[in-house]
Amino acid sequence: MKYRAYGKTGKKISAIAAGTMRFTDSSKIEENADMLLYAHERGINYFDTAPLYCDDKSEETTGRALRQMKAGSYYVSTKSSQSDGAALRRDLERSLERLGVDRIHFFHIWCLLSLPAWEERKSKGAVEAALKARDEGLIEHLVFSTHLPGDEMIDVISEDIFEGVTVGYSAMNFMYREKGIQAAAAKEMGVVTMNPLGGGLIPQHAERFDFLRTPDDPDVVTAALRFICSNPHVTAALVGFSSREHVDQAVRALDDFTPYPSAHIEHIRAQVMDNFDGLCTGCGYCLPCPQGIEIPKWMDAWNMQILSGQEKDLRERLQWHWWMPPEAAGACVACGLCEERCTQHLPIMERLEKIAAMKG
Ligand code: SF4
Ligand code: SF4
Repeated sequence: MKYRAYGKTGKKISAIAAGTMRFTDSSKIEENADMLLYAHERGINYFDTAPLYCDDKSEETTGRALRQMKAGSYYVSTKSSQSDGAALRRDLERSLERLGVDRIHFFHIWCLLSLPAWEERKSKGAVEAALKARDEGLIEHLVFSTHLPGDEMIDVISEDIFEGVTVGYSAMNFMYREKGIQAAAAKEMGVVTMNPLGGGLIPQHAERFDFLRTPDDPDVVTAALRFICSNPHVTAALVGFSSREHVDQAVRALDDFTPYPSAHIEHIRAQVMDNFDGLCTGCGYCLPCPQGIEIPKWMDAWNMQILSGQEKDLRERLQWHWWMPPEAAGACVACGLCEERCTQHLPIMERLEKIAAMKG
């Protein structure tokens, strides 16, 4: 296992980090905890959990595993999405209890989806409460997680509140986040990437993503992880494990790993730009929209439908990932500006109209 410095924290974390949001059966707490212990044996030392994951069993499961690990041999990360300071404090105290630890190594202001939502986390006291908890020693490092586009990540990063960021980043959307990751690196922040396999879409559509592989890569999962870890600004790729085989596959991906040469990275960029017919690459060139519509998020949800062929995947992406009701797509006034700028020439207006008309 390779270990990388998490920003300026003085901590080194494993380049493959364990996500605890994809247990096959969340009620099997002991079995899932055993899998996390196995990941620890394989050299993984960063465990990322949160309230609500896996029917709200993830923190309990992670705590069961951590209690069996030697103190000092792991780092744990959890989160709160509360805006209210007192509510964040309650979340934190519950997490400490469930995890069986006296401090959280990396505590996230969770899931910043828009800049107004970020302002609310500050104005309603969540950030202040987290900083106070850090001063009390209950949190070691305050970080944030986000699905903001790169430009907006820069706004949050420039406030110098956080020591690191956890951000969605994969071969499917890397152009959308590149600037934000560079800004985090410039501030010497840690960068943990989530959804490195595009929420499972990359292995599910392995043929379509075969261009990620070099001749040395046995499969697209290996290639997708190597691609992410080839970015020198990325500290770790967070992989949600469902089985020991997943752990082995992810750990093996970085054995004898040397970062991809820039020519292969450029080949991937060109393939994503040129060959993803109908797919949004997340480049963000369509923005800004005069109606404030966050077009790449809607098109990302549409990607799910293209790749799986099922409308339910579009709906789930909107509901659980972006938290956007379909009818909000109706705010589009069909001015056409975004389609003029879209690098993939996507029929954005038609798609938004169809989403807005979807029946509940
Ligand atoms: S066509 Fe719709 S989504 Fe595109 S820029 Fe105009 S209002 Fe925004
Ligand atoms: S809609 Fe087009 S321009 Fe906008 S992010 Fe997607 S591919 Fe890029």
